[in-house]
Amino acid sequence: MFKGYFGDVLKKDDAELEKLIVEEFKRENSKLQMIASENFASKAVLAAQGSVLTNKYSEGYPGKKYYEGCQYASEIEQLAIDRMAKLFHAEHVNVQPHSGSSANLAVYIAVLQPGDVVMGMDLACGGHLTHGAPANISGKTYKIVSYGVNRETNLLDYEEIRQLALKHRPKLIIAGASAYPRTIDFKKFKDIAVEAGSYFMADIAHIAGLIAGKVHPDASPYADFITGTTHKTLSGPRGGFIISKKEFARKIDSAVFPGIQGGPLVHVIAAKAVCFKQAMTAGFRKYQQQVVKNSAVLAEELIKHGFTLVTGGTDNHLMLVDLRNQNITGREAALALDQAGITVNKNGIPYDTLDVWHTSGIRIGTPAVTTRGMKEEQMIEIAELIAKALKNMKNTAIHKDVSKKVKQLCKKFPVKI
Ligand SMILES: *Cc1c(COP(=O)(O)O)cnc(C)c1O
Repeated sequence: MFKGYFGDVLKKDDAELEKLIVEEFKRENSKLQMIASENFASKAVLAAQGSVLTNKYSEGYPGKKYYEGCQYASEIEQLAIDRMAKLFHAEHVNVQPHSGSSANLAVYIAVLQPGDVVMGMDLACGGHLTHGAPANISGKTYKIVSYGVNRETNLLDYEEIRQLALKHRPKLIIAGASAYPRTIDFKKFKDIAVEAGSYFMADIAHIAGLIAGKVHPDASPYADFITGTTHKTLSGPRGGFIISKKEFARKIDSAVFPGIQGGPLVHVIAAKAVCFKQAMTAGFRKYQQQVVKNSAVLAEELIKHGFTLVTGGTDNHLMLVDLRNQNITGREAALALDQAGITVNKNGIPYDTLDVWHTSGIRIGTPAVTTRGMKEEQMIEIAELIAKALKNMKNTAIHKDVSKKVKQLCKKFPVKI
């Protein structure tokens, strides 16, 4: 059973909270976590994040901290910076952003003025809120020109993006997505940015682990700025980062602090350092290869079961299932699957006619189940279980059976902590 990382400390001091953490661990361990943006952090990452480093104020950057006593905090931050720079062939690294959204905001503040034209992928086609959605500060502050995907193929249409860029001459072009199942061609984006006279930012929040594991092309030869998260495919602590060309180093650093943040989360930065060390190993590369293999097999099997996948498949760690031919909404599917022990999220498909609360699709990812050690064989079984559950929405006996099989699978591949 789960004991917590410090024995019974929490249990003695705050049993009410301890109980909730234990329940959450049971949930994570006894269901298939297939939300594409989630993963399991290693025990070493959790240990660093749960350390005394949370006590320290460390405003500023290594070599120029504003408070006393920052010797070790500085060394830790420098270690994280050096490791990340090596991992992503970076000229300049900032590991202080509290999240991916903060990382994006910092880049905007560093190079944009309110009212500047920014081009990003439409949220409804797989982009992220922070790429200019009206509800987000990015959409409220800048003049947003969104690009989507091709209506027939649902793929990025680089010629259309180029035409849009040449017409609107954005100050910044953003590539990157939260629900795009295919490889992103960063070189093509860079060429468009050069032609249009724009800065180019690659938001690799979802695929940072894939890039580090060399199973997705690297953005660093092309992007002026790379932002991302450490908790998705990288499987580190919840947090963000910014990589940039050297010429933007000062602007980026001052946009993060004092621009939008105060003291950095030293305990999280330490956990990021652990995560980057792990990401340099051969084992990590093998893991990322398996994530993509598992994703391909799961996609293939779902197609065999009669499901339609947006773009017809996947190149990366996630897929989007278009449920219109199943006569159920994304919301209905996600609820039913979670009850059967398979946790995914409802997700709009490109040009969806249903609203964002209902949607016509679900997004499924393989990073977390792969961290548990699952391979192709288990993906075949999972596809079968998903098909059973979704094709028998009203049959509680079948749903019970699926749920039983999910539990057995989870027992065979326990979450390692
Ligand atoms: C997840 C994600 C983010 C934001 O990360 P948070 O840490 O949740 O703020 C930014 N961009 C993209 C493309 C993402 O998928």
